[in-house]
Amino acid sequence: MIDLKILEELSNAFGPSGFEEDVVKVIKKYCSGMAFRNDAMHNVYTELKPTALTAGTGDSNEIHEKPAFSTDRRPVLMLDAHLDECGFMIQSIMENGLMSIVTLGGFHLTSLPAHSVIVRTAEGKMHRGITTSKPVHFLTPEQKADNSLRIEDILIDVGACSREEVLAVYGIRPGDPVVPDVAYEYHEENGICFGKAFDNRLGCFCIIETMKALMEEEDRLAARVVGAFAAQEEVGTRGAVVTAQQVRPDLAIVFEGSPADDPYFQAGIAQGVMRGGVQIRHLDNSYVSNPAFIRYAHEIGEKLGIPCQDAVRRGGSTNAGKISLTGQAVPVLVLGIPSRYVHSHYNFCAKSDIEAAVSMAVEVIRGLNAENMKRIFRQDVI
Ligand SMILES: [Zn+2]
Repeated sequence: MIDLKILEELSNAFGPSGFEEDVVKVIKKYCSGMAFRNDAMHNVYTELKPTALTAGTGDSNEIHEKPAFSTDRRPVLMLDAHLDECGFMIQSIMENGLMSIVTLGGFHLTSLPAHSVIVRTAEGKMHRGITTSKPVHFLTPEQKADNSLRIEDILIDVGACSREEVLAVYGIRPGDPVVPDVAYEYHEENGICFGKAFDNRLGCFCIIETMKALMEEEDRLAARVVGAFAAQEEVGTRGAVVTAQQVRPDLAIVFEGSPADDPYFQAGIAQGVMRGGVQIRHLDNSYVSNPAFIRYAHEIGEKLGIPCQDAVRRGGSTNAGKISLTGQAVPVLVLGIPSRYVHSHYNFCAKSDIEAAVSMAVEVIRGLNAENMKRIFRQDVI
């Protein structure tokens, strides 16, 4: 039984790329009983039993030792999800108190004006701001007809009247981070979650729930499970470069809050259908999936009745691209939870799809054995 209270806190947490510390704290809170370590980039590592990867830190000031190979000889399965969200950074503060921004992650600019945002200062103060838009009263007929936008024209207004006020009273400086201002809600009657940052706090949630579900049977699993929450995915899958080097996985499952496409494509063509089950990704711009791993997941899904849908993406990328190119080539299973309107303020997703993603990961890990891993590692080819 998944605990959506955790998702609420993860979704509401402030954490654009490079500023993920609040997300780290929420993950730590809900990984009690697990070994835990975070690094200087806000990547987080969790294990059901501590090894050199997670041992030796905690509240002390000691610098973490380089992880040595564990005495545990089982293959390492890394659960990946990125913990950052798309946001902004204050670039400059003008004399009239308005602030220019740069984006952290990919936004379509038409979804930005006239929205509420939160600016966080270095002291941790939170200020509500509005992304500027020009009221219809001030637009010329030409401007009304023109829908083009430049990020330089979208400013943040925190209600100040001068640069001096922004600096002295609000305490905002260039370099401060900004995120969409959205409060999570769950609609019990239709099983739909509403909130921000479902790309990819849903993935963070799935790692926590998967590890909790496997806690009691850790000794019996054929693989050692490591949770790796990666920072800075939205600015170029950067955190996963570090987590993959630290964890040195033999295989991996990547969770993503994938863009739902059912509002745009008819049935049969849509491959990210909300309430359609966990999405198994065959291809995107970053990774050609391991067909043996996908076949194994399909077998599990069919045997246990876990709803799933296949996706062959024309674009997009996930941490699987980086993880798969490490070590001796890492087979990765990419599991998506279809999320409507990702990379904008407001997202919807279905509880049933989250449950399907967690069940798929748990059962894939439970079912691993020497024989199916041989297939996944392609040791059956010759
Ligand atoms: Zn994204």
